[in-house]
Amino acid sequence: MAAKKKIKNKHELDDFSGVKPKKVKRAPRQIKKVPIIKPHNAGTMSTSAFWSFIRSTLRQKSRWWRPISITKMKNRRAYSGPNKRQKFEYQCNLCREWFSDKEVNVDHIIPVGALNNGDDLKGFVLRLFCETENLQILCSVCHNKKTFLEKTKIITNEN
Ligand SMILES: [Zn+2]
Repeated sequence: MAAKKKIKNKHELDDFSGVKPKKVKRAPRQIKKVPIIKPHNAGTMSTSAFWSFIRSTLRQKSRWWRPISITKMKNRRAYSGPNKRQKFEYQCNLCREWFSDKEVNVDHIIPVGALNNGDDLKGFVLRLFCETENLQILCSVCHNKKTFLEKTKIITNEN
């Protein structure tokens, strides 16, 4: 393959000297990949992938945390609209409107925050697995607004 290419290039050089050689691609040499260190999970996980794995594992388990289901039960009422499959509707704590199960989130009033290293772990766990006082129902729109404001706040605080 290499030999064939070399001959072809030489041929091109003979026929169109000064034109074709410029097309020789050198870009792959310049892209030098920095090797990602993967010290976790038998050499398959980088440190950021590891903490992302821990975060999602803890968040998955928080679905069965009772204060979360209690918060939903406290803020629901029987639904009597046109959708026959829908039993309940839930009230958003900010806009006070009523929504279906799929349209609401159980929000942590004090945000759970980041989990990027071992130092974050204790605070993250305690804020995630909190009691009902720190939980509220938010509709998707209000939840997105709150999340956006929190993110911009974090950014401005850090800068
Ligand atoms: Zn709302």
